[in-house]
Amino acid sequence: MQDYKDLVVIVDESWLKGKNRKTYYTTLQANMRKVIKHYYESPFEIKNEQQRFVIKGKETFTEELILRLCKTPGINSILPILKGSLDLDEVSQTIIESLKSQEDIKTFKIRSKRVDKRYPIISDQINRLVAGKILEQTDKKVDIRNPDIYIDIKIMNDYSYFSFKRYKAVGGFPIGTNGSVVTLLSGGLDSPVASYMMAKRGSKQHFVFFHAYPYVGDEVKEKILKLMTKLSLYQNGTALYIVPFGEVQNYIAKHCDENYRTLLFRKYMMDIASMIGDQLNAQAILMGDALGQVSSQTIFNMSALDRHSKKMVLRPLVGFNKIEVINLAKEIETFDISSEPHDDACALFAPKHPILKPNTKYLDSFLEEHKCEDLLEKAVEDSEIHIFNVRGDNIRRKV
Ligand code: ATP
Ligand code: MG
Repeated sequence: MQDYKDLVVIVDESWLKGKNRKTYYTTLQANMRKVIKHYYESPFEIKNEQQRFVIKGKETFTEELILRLCKTPGINSILPILKGSLDLDEVSQTIIESLKSQEDIKTFKIRSKRVDKRYPIISDQINRLVAGKILEQTDKKVDIRNPDIYIDIKIMNDYSYFSFKRYKAVGGFPIGTNGSVVTLLSGGLDSPVASYMMAKRGSKQHFVFFHAYPYVGDEVKEKILKLMTKLSLYQNGTALYIVPFGEVQNYIAKHCDENYRTLLFRKYMMDIASMIGDQLNAQAILMGDALGQVSSQTIFNMSALDRHSKKMVLRPLVGFNKIEVINLAKEIETFDISSEPHDDACALFAPKHPILKPNTKYLDSFLEEHKCEDLLEKAVEDSEIHIFNVRGDNIRRKV
């Protein structure tokens, strides 16, 4: 692993903002500061230079820190700066070797600057010389208007600084610039990916897992905690509520038409998530449904649930195919964890023929008769809360 001098951070969508751009930049700066503090012990400063930030520190920055920063929503990409000699052949060679391995980069532009004007080659010549070598030895092309990467070369008194590599980050908006939501996280493949999709839009997420205690054991909790070590990174730290849900399920299963069980489990989960959302001032709930994926996700069921939801429902995967979800799950490293088998109480109570198109009259009257306020409040009160830091470590557990 290489250690880098300064880091240039290219900001993603926030720069499109008009008057309130400052809020986005200030939030991103604070979020980055929080991450760097966890991975870097020396003093550092973050300078805002219009559409980018420059991070300078006393010591060099590690690749581990850069990769971690890449999971900070709001950042488009990070260009680390290396310190090199004044020998342009040497500098060019380092750049070329790195560019060869960056397949997503097709075009480049060199921007050089002589800070020491005694250096015998003027900037324009440096640009041509280095660009010429890159064109000779790689398949990259020059694009002076909209290149995939700007390669900056700065000539100092007796050394040079240059960028050569682009680390792609998640992009979008900084967490904290778009309210907050409660994410319904199950042990499956979809909900972690749904969380990731929305992490990029700037809403702070709090997580809720419904544990079918006492019908299933504690093993499944370990799986959810493992998923949280991945998902909390994008949140700059967050909380997970593990809600005991077995009693609610038992109640529903006893009282409703068997075919409505799965739909009603979902409805009461959404109610509890909304109650937790009220405590946390969240504006919406977030789920991993994809249209038609399973019987509970028909358009009829989803619209019935939305009609009864106390909060706006976000379903970022609604138009995703399974393979698209799988590919993303692999990218964010949740695929293997989600693939571990787990006990699921829904399966225990699962109807043989789950309803695909609910009867509005039946559903409305069931919900009118079974508000279950006490039961739901008790479930919220009995929740186990886990706190995660920016490293994804589970640092505290409140019962
Ligand atoms: P996933 O959707 O994560 O793959 P799944 O397929 O087991 O899990 P579904 O039955 O498809 O879950 O449920 C749809 C959505 O409802 C989930 O994406 C999740 O947001 C929410 N959900 C389901 N079960 C739970 C649970 N036990 N705790 C929290 N949320 C849940
Ligand atoms: Mg699913």
